[in-house]
Amino acid sequence: MVQRLVRLGLVRSERYRGARLTAAGRSAALQLIRRHRIIESYLVERLGFGWEDVHDEAERLEHAASDDLIARMAEAIGNPTADPHGAPIPTASGEVDETRLQSIADLAEGAVAAVVRMSDRDPEFLRYLDGLGIRPGASVRVLERAPFAGPVTLEVDGVRHAIGTSAAAMVYIRRNRR
Ligand SMILES: [Zn+2]
Repeated sequence: MVQRLVRLGLVRSERYRGARLTAAGRSAALQLIRRHRIIESYLVERLGFGWEDVHDEAERLEHAASDDLIARMAEAIGNPTADPHGAPIPTASGEVDETRLQSIADLAEGAVAAVVRMSDRDPEFLRYLDGLGIRPGASVRVLERAPFAGPVTLEVDGVRHAIGTSAAAMVYIRRNRR
């Protein structure tokens, strides 16, 4: 369960290492994730923060905010279903979209996909993606894949970019039918 939650980005493995997550633990973890992602969304939507700056702010605020404050923040921005990095926001009753996503690194040459979410841990990485136009909702086409984990050449909303395989593996997509 922990592995699954970790894979889904629902828990941070270092924080729960060695712990067994019970149903109550899972529900508590989902509520903490809900808080984190609502705070991130609110900071971007209402306070004009850049998407690369909100993760650390949310880490600090997620434990301090009351349930009422979180509910009002969510309400004020129209109860979003995904945070600024595209990660699903669990509902107040603990439902979350657990669809397992592929990454750009899983795409073959010629594949077209829509960017859904990306890792939000590193502000530099988010700034880098932003500069390339790789945000949730962007359309990417794989033009070329170099062998031996070489660069992946992409067309992003009509512009050509080459990115490393490790960066490609941190950008999750939904494949378009061709
Ligand atoms: Zn975050």
